Amino acid sequence: MYDFAISSRSGGICGKIRIFESAYLKNENAMIRTILVLGLLAGMAACGSAPQRWTPEEKERIGENADAGKMRVYRIDRADDSLFLRRRAQELHPEDLLSSSYRILKERLLRTVNDPADPGVGIAAPQAGISRRLIAVQRFDRDSAFRFYANPRLDYRSPQQAWGPEGCLSVPERTDSVLRAREIVVSYVDDVTLETRRDTVRGFTAVIFQHEIDHLDGILFIDRAAGGGMVMREPADSVPAGLPEP
Ligand SMILES: [Zn+2]
Repeated sequence: MYDFAISSRSGGICGKIRIFESAYLKNENAMIRTILVLGLLAGMAACGSAPQRWTPEEKERIGENADAGKMRVYRIDRADDSLFLRRRAQELHPEDLLSSSYRILKERLLRTVNDPADPGVGIAAPQAGISRRLIAVQRFDRDSAFRFYANPRLDYRSPQQAWGPEGCLSVPERTDSVLRAREIVVSYVDDVTLETRRDTVRGFTAVIFQHEIDHLDGILFIDRAAGGGMVMREPADSVPAGLPEP
């Protein structure tokens, strides 16, 4: 059809063809959009990853006021907690990033990770009984403030790795050496603009990101620890991180 429109020298016919063509293209664009949306939804449904809104149980657990304070930290030495920590957390629905429940959850997670009795340098929402893809990371590579990352994803892990000591609020009284990438690229949804952002992170802060994102997939540092887990062998070029314990 397109070739015919170009090769035709008759203005009248060409005019008609152009009108037809533009209508066709308009329909085609609409059709492509429809296919894209349907494909996206089908893909998300197939992967089981179509983001769902807050459940009533989640809203209840988060509460209606940040003054409720810190949340209970789920620990592997409690059977129910342990099963919960091993779940794969669900993505946050974009509209829920603008909800009061999200704001309250962030504030309460912050109070939890800053608990003077048991402070941490990072926390993942599942550790507080909310199986959603949200983490807080203390940015030692910037101003050392905590920042939140919604639906974070590791886009890159450097082949250069280092062993370093790790601990976890959910794994009481245990530290172990874990091999982590020295540099990562993380993408996440900006919870103000809802745009996707990327960040390159190195060193100890990159270790915290990897530890917290593992939580979202039900993986604990003990699974990767030198003392017995999935990653056992130290590569020849590995250098001990010599960094403080997360
Ligand atoms: Zn942890």
